[in-house]
Amino acid sequence: MAEHSNGGRTAIVIGGGLAGMLAVTALVGHVDAITVVERDRYPEGRAFRKGVPQARHLHILLSGGRRALEELLPGTVAALTEAGARSLYLPRDLLTRTPTGWQRRFDERRHLTLSVTRPVLDAVVRERVLRAAADSPTRVEVLEATEAVGLTGDAGRVTGVRVRSRDGERGEGSGRELSAALVVDASGRGSRTPQWYAELGRSAPQEETVDAGLAYATRMYRPKDPDTAPDAGVNIPGWPESPRGAAYVPVEDGKWLLTLSGVRGHHPPTDAAEFTAFSATIGDPYVHELLAQAEPLSPVHGFRDTYNRRRHFERPGALPERFLVLGDAGCTFNPVYGQGMSVAALGALAVRSTLADGGGLRPGVIAEAQRAVARAVEPAWLAAVGADRPYASPDDTKASLGERLSTWYLDRLFARAAIDPVVGAIWRDVFCLTAPPARLVAPRIVLRTVFLPRRPGLPSPPLVVEGA
Ligand SMILES: Cc1cc2nc3c(=O)[nH]c(=O)nc-3n(C[C@H](O)[C@H](O)[C@H](O)COP(=O)(O)OP(=O)(O)OC[C@H]3O[C@@H](n4cnc5c(N)ncnc54)[C@H](O)[C@@H]3O)c2cc1C
Repeated sequence: MAEHSNGGRTAIVIGGGLAGMLAVTALVGHVDAITVVERDRYPEGRAFRKGVPQARHLHILLSGGRRALEELLPGTVAALTEAGARSLYLPRDLLTRTPTGWQRRFDERRHLTLSVTRPVLDAVVRERVLRAAADSPTRVEVLEATEAVGLTGDAGRVTGVRVRSRDGERGEGSGRELSAALVVDASGRGSRTPQWYAELGRSAPQEETVDAGLAYATRMYRPKDPDTAPDAGVNIPGWPESPRGAAYVPVEDGKWLLTLSGVRGHHPPTDAAEFTAFSATIGDPYVHELLAQAEPLSPVHGFRDTYNRRRHFERPGALPERFLVLGDAGCTFNPVYGQGMSVAALGALAVRSTLADGGGLRPGVIAEAQRAVARAVEPAWLAAVGADRPYASPDDTKASLGERLSTWYLDRLFARAAIDPVVGAIWRDVFCLTAPPARLVAPRIVLRTVFLPRRPGLPSPPLVVEGA
């Protein structure tokens, strides 16, 4: 058991999900030992587990995240592909309906995204992280069925984690304290760090929330005849005048996931018959038509907590010494933009680069790493919040003038991107997290977006790739 009496050169990672495993990769080589504290017991095989409830729903790894994952853990994209992940070029392999019509299906090959179920993605990443760690000088131990219930230390410095075993009677095992030189919170969107801060006598980090009130419902299908299965996924995000959406994408083993979504007042049902009926009420009939050629393989699963929430641990005074926050614990997004996993990978990469540049765990380097994580989060945050403002509730953090302008401009840009290969390419660069948002206001993009007349997209889904 890794009980480190004085912390030594050790780290504790709270949460053995995606961000937790990528945190291990970032820290390997910089500490002697890492203890991952994971509330769940990992399932046999690549199966669903309770600690990641969103894993039932469609998850796309954008090209920016795919690149970051590969840089952190070389060979992982091939391992995922081997495990059945489908590679989708955007926009060629994902037909997208915009408010002004269908996006043109350019044969552009800048953005290769991965589509695979979460249990497979998480298991492949976990296996590779732990295998790579076993070949490193850092000892890594995972305490499964162990829940972090608090931090130890004081207002200025975190010295460890209070944990409780979940294998005891009725899940109430005995508690103990683990000490470490660094504690990483990677416990996901349910992170209790603000409460734990209060127990240490600290005030909570500043928080921003923008909630579009979106709900998801997802079901797995298999096309009845694989030979006539669609050759591309379909994405019909909702928009203010048509607030119900659908995304239907291939995943491993010839299966497809259908996620239906809707903002307040339009939540998709979880009853199977009503779910099918709801699919006929979104902004375009194409997905509903495809369902007639597929058989369902699962019940319908719902999900409602889809708000954008950012906690500013990078701001002055917001971080005690020896503490770092990564993944959804720091920033969660409306999932409809498919960014969270990519941001977790980009954040872990930022931590690794900061530690490498700074010569390891010297004083001040963790605060620097947290600022680097915040810079990695920023583009995705601006994109998600800019797009969600029209749906925000009155309780949300108010939009700045800059955000209001960006919502107006993004709306025009999205319409232009659907028909214009130049604007479309930059739009995808930014939304796939491979280029900074500043590219969206490059002079030639502004000119094409603001001054060229608004034109509709295509009237029906483009079944043929342009120029192929
Ligand atoms: C419906 C939905 C769809 C999404 N679709 C996409 C998508 O298409 N593309 C994309 O990139 N992102 C998507 N996301 C976001 C993505 O799921 C998250 O960004 C990602 O899982 C973040 O990883 P994480 O490790 O921070 O958190 P999680 O994956 O949630 O992992 C947290 C881990 O911490 C453990 N844990 C929690 N509390 C404790 C504790 N107290 N002690 C010990 N362990 C604990 C949990 O058991 C779990 O293993 C979606 C999210 C939702 C909700």
